[in-house]
Amino acid sequence: MTIFGCRTCGAALTVPVSRVALPVHARQQYGNGPGSLDPVLEPGTFAVDPLPAGRPWRRWDELEDGEALGWYAPRPSVSEGPAGRVLLAPGDVRGTVIDPALVGEFGCCGLDGDEPNMRCVACGTPVATRIDDCGLWQAVWLHPPATRVLDDGPGPHPALDWADLFDQRPGIPPTEPYGVWNPVWAAALASTVAHLLAASGGAAILIPDNRVAEVLQPVLDSLAGPDDGQLLLTLAGPGLPAADGDLAFVPQHPQTGEIWPVAESVKPIPLAWDVWRHLAFHRDPKPAGRSVPLLPDALPALLPGGRLRPDGRVFLNVLARLPEVRQSWLRAVYDRGRPYNYSYYVF
Ligand SMILES: [Zn+2]
Ligand SMILES: [Zn+2]
Repeated sequence: MTIFGCRTCGAALTVPVSRVALPVHARQQYGNGPGSLDPVLEPGTFAVDPLPAGRPWRRWDELEDGEALGWYAPRPSVSEGPAGRVLLAPGDVRGTVIDPALVGEFGCCGLDGDEPNMRCVACGTPVATRIDDCGLWQAVWLHPPATRVLDDGPGPHPALDWADLFDQRPGIPPTEPYGVWNPVWAAALASTVAHLLAASGGAAILIPDNRVAEVLQPVLDSLAGPDDGQLLLTLAGPGLPAADGDLAFVPQHPQTGEIWPVAESVKPIPLAWDVWRHLAFHRDPKPAGRSVPLLPDALPALLPGGRLRPDGRVFLNVLARLPEVRQSWLRAVYDRGRPYNYSYYVF
């Protein structure tokens, strides 16, 4: 089991937890409140952000070479803070207290910010940042310079193999009960669209699967590149035949972060497991007990609000980290976020 603790005094700061992959929606800001979203991680799990986060921030135009930091397109600002922040569900954190003196000016109706606002109860060192502002996933981020691993091991949730994952984690539907897109879908597909464009080289993308096409075709049409070519995009993963297209949506394992392996001739495009599983296997039940066929316009809509609006901030964030964004057509796609300071995107 893995337990994290205070670097200064050695006090335990978490219950035993198991590592999972960092979700693409970890820092998503969704909607306009009121209130925060659910805890971003399941109880008993943690994830690590390998990238720098938090202060100090550097403005893009002050940087000699943004590419050295892994960014291939302009950003509003770039973090030069500590890498390796540990993400937890707030309920798994122990021995800490929120200090109002550290909360500062951040946040609207809850807590936000990228500096620690929680202290170690035993020694008073600022050790973690609690996030629960409106429109944000609830989270605690451990501050790397102030915390360390006390005990290391597999923890309460050992990694499942693909077959067990398939049986035990059926995915999540695209719609919230009140009819809008689930934020996990908006974030996951934003990331996937960025990877898809990077892999396409500007060619048109043909999607034979009706359900995938229904979700993605309008988005892809709005981002079409200049290439006359056409690439076939299929689904691949557990329970499906081997991929035979040019590109394949493959699931990303939610615990290990591995992607489903495909043949070398196929370019894998990662998609979060919970979305992939639903997209690949969920079929809406046929209406039962009716003797008269329903007219098409009397059928319930498969998808909420018509077309998908991927999360623009996630899309631009992922795209800026892919070297392909230096291709001029893709850079033009990226720069459509510039009027919004790269925090919003009109698809
Ligand atoms: Zn301490
Ligand atoms: Zn608020």
